[in-house]
Amino acid sequence: MAKQYADVIIDISHDKVDRPFQYRIPPELAKEVYPGVRVYVPFGKGNLEKAGYVVDISGQTEYPVEKIKSITAVDGKGITVQGNQIQIAYWLKRQYGSTMIAALKTVLPVKHKLKQLERKKVTRCMEGEALLEALQLCEKKHQAAKARILRALLTDEVLPYELIRQKLNVSPAAFTALEKQGCLKIETEAYYRNPVRCAAGEEKRVVLSKVQQEIIETVMGDYRAGHPGTYLVHGVTGSGKTEVYLGIIEQMIGMGKQAIMLIPEIALTYQTLLRFYKRFGDRVSVINSSLSQGEKYDQIRRAKEGALDVIIGPRSALFTPFPDLGVIVVDEEHESSYKSESMPKYHARETALQIAAMHRASVVLGSATPSTEAYYRAQRGDYKLFEMTARHGASMLPKVYTIDLREELKQGNRSVFSRKLRELIDGRLQAGEQTMLFLNRRGYAGFISCRVCGHVMKCPHCDVSLSEHRGNMLLCHYCGYEEHRAEKCPVCGSRYLMGFKAGTEQIEEALQKEFPKARVLRMDADTTKSKESYEKILSAFADEKADILVGTQMIVKGHDFPNVTLVGVLAADLSLNQNDYRAGERTFQLLTQAAGRAGRGNKPGEVVIQTYQPEHYSIIHAAKQDYRGFYEEEILYREFMQYPPAAHMLAVLITSRQQEQGETLGDEMAAAITKRMRSGAQGLPEDGTVSGETETEKTWQRLQIIGPTEAAIGKINDLYRHVFYLKHPDYQMLVQVKDILEHFCKEKELKNQTVQYDFDPMNTY
Ligand code: ADP
Ligand code: ZN
Ligand code: ZN
Repeated sequence: MAKQYADVIIDISHDKVDRPFQYRIPPELAKEVYPGVRVYVPFGKGNLEKAGYVVDISGQTEYPVEKIKSITAVDGKGITVQGNQIQIAYWLKRQYGSTMIAALKTVLPVKHKLKQLERKKVTRCMEGEALLEALQLCEKKHQAAKARILRALLTDEVLPYELIRQKLNVSPAAFTALEKQGCLKIETEAYYRNPVRCAAGEEKRVVLSKVQQEIIETVMGDYRAGHPGTYLVHGVTGSGKTEVYLGIIEQMIGMGKQAIMLIPEIALTYQTLLRFYKRFGDRVSVINSSLSQGEKYDQIRRAKEGALDVIIGPRSALFTPFPDLGVIVVDEEHESSYKSESMPKYHARETALQIAAMHRASVVLGSATPSTEAYYRAQRGDYKLFEMTARHGASMLPKVYTIDLREELKQGNRSVFSRKLRELIDGRLQAGEQTMLFLNRRGYAGFISCRVCGHVMKCPHCDVSLSEHRGNMLLCHYCGYEEHRAEKCPVCGSRYLMGFKAGTEQIEEALQKEFPKARVLRMDADTTKSKESYEKILSAFADEKADILVGTQMIVKGHDFPNVTLVGVLAADLSLNQNDYRAGERTFQLLTQAAGRAGRGNKPGEVVIQTYQPEHYSIIHAAKQDYRGFYEEEILYREFMQYPPAAHMLAVLITSRQQEQGETLGDEMAAAITKRMRSGAQGLPEDGTVSGETETEKTWQRLQIIGPTEAAIGKINDLYRHVFYLKHPDYQMLVQVKDILEHFCKEKELKNQTVQYDFDPMNTY
C-alpha cells in the first residue's frame, strides 16, 4: 500500500498534540515526507499557509478523499530539534505499540501554565560627563526620583529594576521618562527556576586507575574516530564506575557536546548529584519526580537553548532535547524502573540506543549485576565489555552462609530464623553492631513448595512457578495451564506442601519475641506511605537508633550504613519462585545487592541466605558473588525455553468491562495471528524441504502463541484482565504481529475494551 497520507500537527506542544490533520502527500514529495519533517500546508477555511510537523504517514484515510488537501511544500532546512523528538515518538509508537498521541506526550515536555519567569534590568546609556549633566538637570528641576536613579547608575552600569524601584522608592514612570531621554534602557531577560541550589565546592580529584583510564580512552577514541559505540561497564558497587562516567562526560563537554545521565529514581541522592555539580558547576541539572512542572519545563528549555551540558534523572530525562548530544550513560541498567509501565511501554536502555543512533552519540551502560540482555549482547560483540573487579578502598567482600531451611525443619526448628542467623544476630546485639533483615516479598506471587524436599510446583510447559488460584487450583500465568493443588509432594510424598505467608510485620513480631531487648525498625510499603517516613526510617537507622532494620527490597538499594555487619535474607525462595522467567535473575541481583550492604565500613560483614533450594544456581553464584557463573547457567535456561534475550516476547493485555468480552477478544486476536501464520506457511512444499521456503515463511513458522488466559490479577478496578504472549527470535516479527493486531482491533471498533502491548515484559500480567 502506498503511503499517500500524512498526519500533520500544526501547533506542536504537549498540550495540543491531540489534533492532527490529514493531508495528501503529492507524489513528487513522497520521498521527502516522513515523520519529523516540517511541512507547509493550507489550513482552515481561508487556506492560509501554515507550517506544521508530519507525525505519521499511512495508506488510508478516514475522510472523504475529495476533501483532503495536499501538502504544499517541505521545509528544506533539515530536521529540527522538534522534528527529532517527533521521530523518537514515532519510533516508540512503532516499536512498543501505542497511539502516536501517547508517544508524543511521552517525548514532549508538558508546557507549564506559568509564564516564563522574567526579570528586568536597567542599563545606563550615557557615560561620564553626559550622565552628570543629565543628573544636574534633574536636580535643577526638582525631579528627585529621576535623580536618585541616575545617581545609582553613576556607580553601576547595570542594576536590577525591581531592586532599585523598591529601594529608591521610584515609580515606573520615572524610568520610562529617563528611557525616553536616552539616559538608560530597560531590558527584560528570561531566567529559570533552577532546582539546583548548591555551592560548587572544591572537588577532590582522584588519580584514575588503569582500568578507568582504559575505558574512558576507548569510549572517547571510538567517538573521535567517528564510530560511537555501546559499552557495558560491569563493576561492583564502589569499583569506580561513576568516576568513569564523569571522565567521559568531561571530555564530551570539552568537545562542545552534551550528556544525559540516567539513574534510577531511588538512586538519585544528594550525594550523587553533588559529585556532578562539583565537577561541572551549574551547567548540570536534574529532572525528577519531585520537581514542579514549571521547574521541569525550564530545565528542558535550558537544555534546548544550550545553557546545560548535563542532565541527570530517571527514565524520562532521556527525552531532553539537547542540540548536540554526545553520550547517554545508563547507570544500573538492570533496574526494572527503566521500563515504563504505561503506554508506550518503552525500555529506557533500548530507547537510549535509538536516540544515540540518531545523534551519533555513544551509550555507556553500567551495572554491578548486568541484565541478562545487556551481558548477552556484550558476549555477542554488540557492546564492548569492561570488567571492573576490585572495590576501591579497604572494604572487603562479606562472608556468606547459605542455610538450608529443610535441614532446620528436620532439626525441629520452626522459627523464621535459622539457628545460625539467630546466633549471629545475638552476637551483633552484644557487640553493638547493626543487622538488616530482608524479606524479598514482591507482588502477589503465591507459589507452593515442599518444606521437606524443596520441590516447587511448576508449569510443565513454561518452566515457571505455578500460582495459587481460587483456593485449590494452581495456575500458570503465561499459558493458562491449570492443575489441582496436590495434597502430597509429588517428589517425596510429604504433606508439607504449602505457600509462604510471612510478611515483614510477622518478622518484626518474631524478633520482639526472640530478642526482647533489640530495638527494631520496620520498612515496607505500609510504613513508608510518604517520602518523609522513608527518609526518617533510614536516617534513624543510620544514627544507630535501632539495632535491626527489617524490610522489603527497598532496604537493599543505595544507602551506606557503616555499622551494619550482618545482613539476613529470610527466604530467598520468595523471589526465586515468582511466576515469571526473570525470577532467577531478580534473585541473583537482590542477593548480590543485599550482600553488598554488609561490611561497607572497616568491619568485615557476614551474610546469611535462608532457602529451601540451596542447590539453585542463582543462590550458589550469589553466595560466591560470581556473576559470570550465574550468567552462564541463566542463559542456558533462556535459550532452552526461548525467553528473552534468546528470543523476544510480546505480552498482549486485554482489559474489559465484562469477563466474556475479554475472553472472546483474546481468542479472536490469537486466531487472527494463527490464520496469518497458516497463510504464511502455505507456500511450503509438501515434503517440508527448505528450498522453496521464503524468508517470511520461515519466520512466521517460528512464532509461538502462549495463552490466552486470565491475568495474574484477573480484575482491577472492576476491569477484567486477559493476557496472551507471543514469542519469536526476531523482534521485528513481533512488531509485525503487533501491527496486525492493532489493525484487527481498529476494524472491530472496540467498546469498553482496551488492548495494551508490552515487549519483553519485565512483569507478569
Ligand atoms: P561506583 O560508581 O562503581 O559505585 P564510584 O565511582 O562511586 O564507584 O567510586 C567509589 C568510591 O571510590 C568513591 O568515593 C570514589 O571517589 C572512589 N574512587 C573511584 N575511583 C578512584 C580512584 N581511581 N582513586 C581513588 N578513589 C577512587
Ligand atoms: Zn517434597
Ligand atoms: Zn505455562
